[in-house]
Amino acid sequence: VSSAGSSPAAIAPLPWHGDPLERIRAAWSSGRLPHALLLHGPQGLGKVAFAHWLAAAVLCDAPLAPLDACGTCAGCRLLQAASHPDFTTVKVAQDKSAISVEQIRDTCERLAMTSYRCGAKVAVIEEAHRMTVNAANSLLKTLEEPPPNSLLVVVTSRPGALPATVRSRCQRLAFRAPPRSVAREWLEQQTGAAVADAVLEYSAGAPLAALAAAGPFAELDGRMRRALADLAEGRADIASVAAAWARDQLDERLGWLDFWLSRGIRLHISGIADHVTQSQGATLLPSSLPALNITSLYGTLDRVRELRRTLARTALQKELAVEMVLGDLLRSVVLPARR
Ligand SMILES: [Zn+2]
Repeated sequence: VSSAGSSPAAIAPLPWHGDPLERIRAAWSSGRLPHALLLHGPQGLGKVAFAHWLAAAVLCDAPLAPLDACGTCAGCRLLQAASHPDFTTVKVAQDKSAISVEQIRDTCERLAMTSYRCGAKVAVIEEAHRMTVNAANSLLKTLEEPPPNSLLVVVTSRPGALPATVRSRCQRLAFRAPPRSVAREWLEQQTGAAVADAVLEYSAGAPLAALAAAGPFAELDGRMRRALADLAEGRADIASVAAAWARDQLDERLGWLDFWLSRGIRLHISGIADHVTQSQGATLLPSSLPALNITSLYGTLDRVRELRRTLARTALQKELAVEMVLGDLLRSVVLPARR
């Protein structure tokens, strides 16, 4: 066992967790911490990290302040080593697509057992919307009759996909994307460099998503701009571009198109359309856009989103679907801009 000084620092809430943090601390101070919490909000805001911090704070043997894990006590160390006997975390297994009823039953049983360390017991369910119907149902008993001194933290980016019976039995804790300046500052601390606003926008303002996307985005952004420029300049035809997109990273490409069109529409409306073309020399949209029809831009954006939704649901002939989207795109964006 190493000395206290060399142990890793306690995990901390992230800079934009102020609201949920205050609410949870107030509940704790007044002895009204609920037995079940529903942490919800877009992906990439650190909800799971918050859940783990909360577990640490609740399970800490020597909190520095109310609900503030010390990071060095036996409880904190056990948690950091992922071997705390009173802590369980559940997520979709690597080779599976859903959280099974067995996983939830096991979690509920552990939550109902007497604490090994004479304290509280905490369970975290990550991506809870991916529980099977049976799994969600098996959670109800625990939600209705919570074991004493237990805390169940249900985390999801899609609360609407959880059964209402589960939602209504948890106290909700909302997570929201921080102001851009807060996200930018945090990203700079993490990467040691400025992160382009476009990456943050592409990640819907979610800092952790932006951190993950920063490298891949720059690469995708370059490739997509080149592809559109090739189409615009007649160096490539729709069929070959559609075939290439259908083969590789189609969802990412459509995500990029969604981002690019949304941004284009917004900037066009606010009269600064030239920002869309800012780099890579692929001037697809000129600074004044008399020929651009905002309605057809929206139409193209709708079509991109519809294709993304359809892709997730059904096997469809991707090349043909992409060709139709590209046809739209050429008519509404690329060709008018060349006139
Ligand atoms: Zn501690």
